Amino acid sequence: SAPVVQASGLSRVYEVGGGLFGKPQEIRALSEVSFAIPRGKTLAVVGESGCGKSTLARVVTMIEPPSAGSFAIDGTEVTPDRWDGLRDAVQIVFQDPYGSLNPRQRISAILGEPLKINRKGMSRADREAKVREVMGLVGLRPEFYDRYPHMFSGGQRQRIAVARALMLEPKVLVLDEPVSALDLSVQSQILNLLLELQDRLGLTYLFISHDLSVVRHVCDEIMVMYLGRAVETGTKDQVFDSPRHPYTLALLSATPVADPARRKERIKLTGELPSPLNIPSGCAFAARCWKARDRCRAERPELEGDGHKAACFFPEGG
Ligand code: ATP
Ligand code: MG
Repeated sequence: SAPVVQASGLSRVYEVGGGLFGKPQEIRALSEVSFAIPRGKTLAVVGESGCGKSTLARVVTMIEPPSAGSFAIDGTEVTPDRWDGLRDAVQIVFQDPYGSLNPRQRISAILGEPLKINRKGMSRADREAKVREVMGLVGLRPEFYDRYPHMFSGGQRQRIAVARALMLEPKVLVLDEPVSALDLSVQSQILNLLLELQDRLGLTYLFISHDLSVVRHVCDEIMVMYLGRAVETGTKDQVFDSPRHPYTLALLSATPVADPARRKERIKLTGELPSPLNIPSGCAFAARCWKARDRCRAERPELEGDGHKAACFFPEGG
């Protein structure tokens, strides 16, 4: 079947500065990112802080438009004049379960709000029934209905945030670092909840994380990003077992592994992460890459390969 999310060449440029005397500068936060996620599957997006993960999340959830490129949800091309009809289909869960819930609203109001706004004809009783049903789905006890978010731990709050994202029965959840703010023991509870919900509801996930050990539990495919671009894409096994891009190799070498036999020598990246105001021509990773040669600094490698793709002139394994 057709992918539920199909993105093609998505870019996002921010203009900053440019007051009275300054020239505005361009930040290329996202550059020509393409991917497809089949129904019920998870694409993980990984990469260091500032590589454009949240920008991608905001574009795909129609919080802001791409500067270039296009995407389709369930076969329907998304354009700014068609957002309203499609927005319900893609919902987002943010990293911070403390900041993302209004402390003055009871759970009943937090979860009822999307229905109040987007399901105008719905009766109060139907709304309450729907809120209670979704609370059950995410494992929130019925007596929490009238409570406030501050009465709950981070994990419970993240359940509330997931419930809120489910109120409009979306097809796609964009999960932007959904467990990064939680204790390790709570992380796995929330990850298991997400897997269970995906199974029961047939949800499609775009799962954003800087943490490869988290991603490993939940994803089918991986896209590794560096300075706004996808530098490697493939199935989970391809990327974890035979990474092709040196950057992926470095990320993996910094990730703890359970099996000591698979432990690789840690690659320490030298050099600075270039500023997104000033992305070098050629390969953006060249300044930190131990394999870089003249060609890498002169020419930008395209994301290439059959299924398992890497943007590198000298990938691992030739
Ligand atoms: P993190 O892991 O820290 O959440 P990220 O991968 O989500 O990082 P983004 O938040 O998408 O990264 O940011 C990508 C780049 O775009 C960064 O350089 C950031 O400073 C810049 N940026 C993001 N939003 C804006 C904005 N509204 N205006 C200007 N620059 C922005
Ligand atoms: Mg982010």
